[in-house]
Amino acid sequence: MAQQGIQMDQERLCCSICLDLLKDPVTIPCGHNYCMNCIKSYWDEEDQKKVYSCPQCRQTFRPRPALVKNTMLADLVEELKKTEPQL
Ligand SMILES: [Zn+2]
Ligand SMILES: [Zn+2]
Repeated sequence: MAQQGIQMDQERLCCSICLDLLKDPVTIPCGHNYCMNCIKSYWDEEDQKKVYSCPQCRQTFRPRPALVKNTMLADLVEELKKTEPQL
């Protein structure tokens, strides 16, 4: 399978917290994706407020949403890593 246009995915597959490719990608209820660890520590900081927000779109969630790994995205990240020249 030739994967044209995978470059376009690169932006979508980056975490806006660490600005790196998603590690253990999770999708939160607004549809944005983050590394499991990034959004976890981000929400840990918001724990006192008891309101959890998306760093990208500022949508807020209550109670804290459960983080479930998005295996489809994880596969995409793996694919992307394979096609990318290692620097
Ligand atoms: Zn991250
Ligand atoms: Zn969002």
